[in-house]
Amino acid sequence: MLILGHVGITCGVALAAEEVALRARHGGAGPQGFAVKLRHTTALLARHVDLRLLMVASLLPDIIDKPLGLLVLGDVYGSGRLFCHALIFPVALAAAGLLLWHVRHVSALLILAYGAGLHLMLDAMWRTPAVLFWPITAMPAHAASPDGWLQRVLEGLLSNPATYVPEIAGAIMLLPLAYVIIRETGPVRFLRSGTVELH
Ligand SMILES: [Zn+2]
Repeated sequence: MLILGHVGITCGVALAAEEVALRARHGGAGPQGFAVKLRHTTALLARHVDLRLLMVASLLPDIIDKPLGLLVLGDVYGSGRLFCHALIFPVALAAAGLLLWHVRHVSALLILAYGAGLHLMLDAMWRTPAVLFWPITAMPAHAASPDGWLQRVLEGLLSNPATYVPEIAGAIMLLPLAYVIIRETGPVRFLRSGTVELH
């Protein structure tokens, strides 16, 4: 899965979880109508979670593994899915995150753990157990050639439904969120503060 799929679906799931938590707290009460509800839920989620960090978290395993496995260690692994695509990565982030939350009430590492964990699910890492269960298993060397990686990705985007359908789904999930951010806070202010303020 690529950028739009990861960012869109991760934010969409977080928004859905916020909506479920809201209903559990207040029942059916609260704002009615899809647009009003979406504004309200987005603002509440942004109060609990830095949405900028959430977007980075959704891509974190790729941000680390792609340059590492394709450029720095391209001759050894030739794959963009390495150590941060192993289960131990989000588990270690979650363990450190729980500790940080307990000591300082800072949720940043828990947000990274959620984003990285969902990233592994969306990448269907169970299909490559040798990577998923590293370091119990050995990381596969020379899994592929890093040459032409970008070309293969672009070809997949144009011809392979397994590549382009999740990207379209992610873009659709991001549209309402982008609308609320642009309409309410403005993109520059959002990038500076990470908050969504309703007018
Ligand atoms: Zn990935």
